Amino acid sequence: CGIVGYVGGQSALDVVLAGLKRLEYRGYDSAGVAVLADGGLASAKKAGKLANLEKELADRPLPSGGTGIGHTRWATHGGPTDANAHPHLDNAGRVSVVHNGIIENFAVLRAELAERGHDLASETDTEVVAHLLAESFSSCGDLAEAMRQVCRQLEGAFTLVAVHADAPDVVVGARRNSPLVVGVGEDEAFLASDVAAFIAHTREAIELGQDQVVEARRDVVTVTDFDGAPAEVRPYHVDWDASA
Ligand code: GLU
Repeated sequence: CGIVGYVGGQSALDVVLAGLKRLEYRGYDSAGVAVLADGGLASAKKAGKLANLEKELADRPLPSGGTGIGHTRWATHGGPTDANAHPHLDNAGRVSVVHNGIIENFAVLRAELAERGHDLASETDTEVVAHLLAESFSSCGDLAEAMRQVCRQLEGAFTLVAVHADAPDVVVGARRNSPLVVGVGEDEAFLASDVAAFIAHTREAIELGQDQVVEARRDVVTVTDFDGAPAEVRPYHVDWDASA
């Protein structure tokens, strides 16, 4: 339902949690976060309100890092449980993905993954994306390219945002029939389902077009279509009142 991603010099966890709070008005049933730190990936997710997640984080703090993602979920496939909450991980725990929307062909993809030895831990349509990204990344070594390869296999409506422990300063995103906006800050970048998530940090935004993938680094944002062709970006200035 709500998505936030961050790469930059601030604590990704703090930025992502604050962003998720700005998206709370949309309603949700679970929440979760993941951060890249110390060469690995750490995540936490809980059914219920953001307060439940914050309590979990107080009990079991995550290491601090400058790259992270977060999600508030409105369940469509699988009940509102801790296991079904996003982010979803691959079996090695190296890639983490959050998703808004519905992957229509998830059952076929899930069966194929199971045949290739993947162990799926949730009832969601989303989890297949984490496993597919892990496979693609291990063959191409580039997270944006892995996202493009995965998106070409997906049917349905999706905003996806992902990080990989082996791509420590990168957040990637993709969209089809579901919104994704990039916030371009000074030596930092944001990905979100709604500008409200990052308006406190920057008002320079890029709206992703249909069937596009974005690779966000601290100092450069690259947008392509699902085949890798450079996309024309349309930067704009968000001038509405942040307190509205
Ligand atoms: N279809 C996904 C799920 O049920 C994403 C739901 C959402 O948009 O929050 O987990």
